[in-house]
Amino acid sequence: MAETDYDVVIIGGGPAGMTAGLYASRAKLKSLLVEKMIMGGQMMTTTLVENYPGFPGGIGGPELMMKIQEHCGEFGLETSYGSVEKIIDHGTTKTLIVDGKEITTKVIIIATGAIPRKLGIEGEADLVGKGVSYCATCDGAFFREVPIAVIGGGDTALEEAMFLTRFASKVILVHRRDELRATKILQERALANEKIEIAWNSVVDGFESDNSGLTGATLKDTKTGETRKIEIQGMFVAVGVTPTTGFVKGLVDLTEDGYIIAGEDTKTSLPGIFAAGDNRTTVLRQVSTAVGDGAVAAIMAEKYIHELAHSAK
Ligand code: NAP
Repeated sequence: MAETDYDVVIIGGGPAGMTAGLYASRAKLKSLLVEKMIMGGQMMTTTLVENYPGFPGGIGGPELMMKIQEHCGEFGLETSYGSVEKIIDHGTTKTLIVDGKEITTKVIIIATGAIPRKLGIEGEADLVGKGVSYCATCDGAFFREVPIAVIGGGDTALEEAMFLTRFASKVILVHRRDELRATKILQERALANEKIEIAWNSVVDGFESDNSGLTGATLKDTKTGETRKIEIQGMFVAVGVTPTTGFVKGLVDLTEDGYIIAGEDTKTSLPGIFAAGDNRTTVLRQVSTAVGDGAVAAIMAEKYIHELAHSAK
């Protein structure tokens, strides 16, 4: 078998990627984790993780990720920053082009996660940083004692709405149906919060702004089609996520929504490439499931490399 720079290259430094790195380096595979932005992934913008076992009372997303990164370091995982532009498959080996440089490996674990979805409404892009945000932890404190809106009815929207009540005078939760998608415990808490007002059966139809930024929005009733204006200075969009998989389109099979088609064994349609975490087809996307995926992907990588070595003999 041809020599490669690494046995395993992991793309993405969130919970799935780091756990894959921990398992792979502990298994003595020569492993590199490549991260594009900040080690920690979406957890770095999560205020409190309440449902990751072992931390009664919850743990801050960044604190959890720093602990996992420190843990990876104990087994000597190599990490680097860079953007993977392309992957070239040679059969038993692969080449990654990372910021123009070539890295060769036997296995690739794609753990690139997902990024917040946009509303796709005219004017949205221009108002990012001027009232429109996709991250309450990052930008919430800029909206003290002013009315704001949170768009969405899932776990993220409700968690963000509750977090934002620390700062805002009022939080209008705008949801397109008359029933929330979020888990019951979050629904109960949000509905009991006096600072949260819910605009049921409503979607954002337009923005209002002046030189200082967002001043309001038009909401449209999804049942009657009627519109009404709300005065807000901030809008936090939490309408789900889009998997970060554009760079592997055509290389591995994807769903229409862009998720990598991979089962619980994390195997993709291309031998030697595994997908772990929020970017693969799965029934649940949580830190605990991402961590589980990372572990499975690394063990599957070890098995694949072992089989490659034996078939080459
Ligand atoms: P999500 O569960 O997909 O919810 C997205 C919400 O946005 C839904 O209520 C959806 O409405 C609404 N929506 C989607 N497109 C919209 C549009 N164009 N306009 C208006 N509303 C729109 O996404 P998420 O809340 O980001 O959660 C993603 C995953 O992470 C989920 O699996 C979730 O359980 C998990 N998560 C877990 C926790 C936790 O356990 N503490 C915290 C955060 C996230 P409909 O309901 O009508 O579809």
